[in-house]
Amino acid sequence: MRADGSRPVRTKVLRVDPRDVDEQKLARAASVVKSGGLVVFPTETVYGLGADSRNPEALLGIFRAKGRPHDNPLIVHLTGVDMLSGVASEIPPVAEALIGRFWPGPLTLVLRASPSLPREVTAGLPTVAVRCPAHPVALKLIELSGTPIAAPSANLSGRPSPTRAEHVISDLWGLVDVIIDSGDTLYGVESTILDVTRDPPVLLRPGAVTVEDLENALGAEISVPEAARGLLKSDVALSPGMKYRHYAPQKPLVLVESDDYTEGSGYPGKVISIAKSLASGGRKVVVLASDDGADLYRSSGLETVKLGPRSNLFEVARSVFSTLRMLDEMDVDVAVVEGFEERGLGLTIMNRLRKASGHTVIHVR
Ligand code: AMP
Ligand code: MG
Repeated sequence: MRADGSRPVRTKVLRVDPRDVDEQKLARAASVVKSGGLVVFPTETVYGLGADSRNPEALLGIFRAKGRPHDNPLIVHLTGVDMLSGVASEIPPVAEALIGRFWPGPLTLVLRASPSLPREVTAGLPTVAVRCPAHPVALKLIELSGTPIAAPSANLSGRPSPTRAEHVISDLWGLVDVIIDSGDTLYGVESTILDVTRDPPVLLRPGAVTVEDLENALGAEISVPEAARGLLKSDVALSPGMKYRHYAPQKPLVLVESDDYTEGSGYPGKVISIAKSLASGGRKVVVLASDDGADLYRSSGLETVKLGPRSNLFEVARSVFSTLRMLDEMDVDVAVVEGFEERGLGLTIMNRLRKASGHTVIHVR
């Protein structure tokens, strides 16, 4: 028996090639979902910890396994709009337009919840978060399970989201029934969450779909509250998940923000002096840097891990969580991470870095 009174589980890993999906293996995973078990599955964003969205006991298992606070609701994963009945009670025209443009894909919509949905999914809110993942394994699993699957990210609460099965194994071994391993996820950051019950729609979490893409699709602006940027200023948590410590490595992380990251701004020089002053007490420092600054840091004698080029934020976003996990394995005392301009995926990256650093931010001019 574990401390919370639950029995340890014998976790089974199923390897499924996303380019050649083995339906028999997925049928075994689906039968676990149907019988109320916990199945970790890949999506195009991060790995999800799934259970039958209609089974309150199974849903409680998600919260138990993750150590997730009960007032933080789950995202319901569907194979498409036809699964929305019984989940959402109303689909406004804005949602229809976005679904047509972005599903399947990494956009989660907050809609009015169907009254039949268990309160474990919504945490008692009148709304529900839904998405249709663009991953052949996720879609087949939901289809074979014959039920919408509720799933948050498959990490222990507060830890960086898992972008490969090894991350899940290190967090949830013995706590879940099945882990489906389909290799690295594509985006490496979670879905964008947009509340379309409000006008204009409100961004609750920046993610793999950018604000610019949403506004282009709608031909209108959406509301981007400060909390969605990962800033502390907002004291009202718009999305229940916003108020919790998130994505944090075990090692201290210092984020260096600037109004100007362009070449000629002298930004890397400022990062170097911060990193060197942190190193002065004999502490081992590593800089998590864009490829652009990495050579300069190395030539200054600083240990450096590359996140990707500033010209390709897709790559940076993709490596953020795995780098934060790697940091905990490294022989260093503290990490300094570069900031990124808050445009496109830069907004998503900065949201994650501000939270991962526990808002330990140094602003340079
Ligand atoms: P995760 O996928 O682990 O990031 O967890 C799901 C995220 O969706 C959390 O940040 C939740 O707060 C958010 N979420 C789920 N349902 C709702 C809802 N009805 N309204 C606002 N946010 C939601
Ligand atoms: Mg999460």
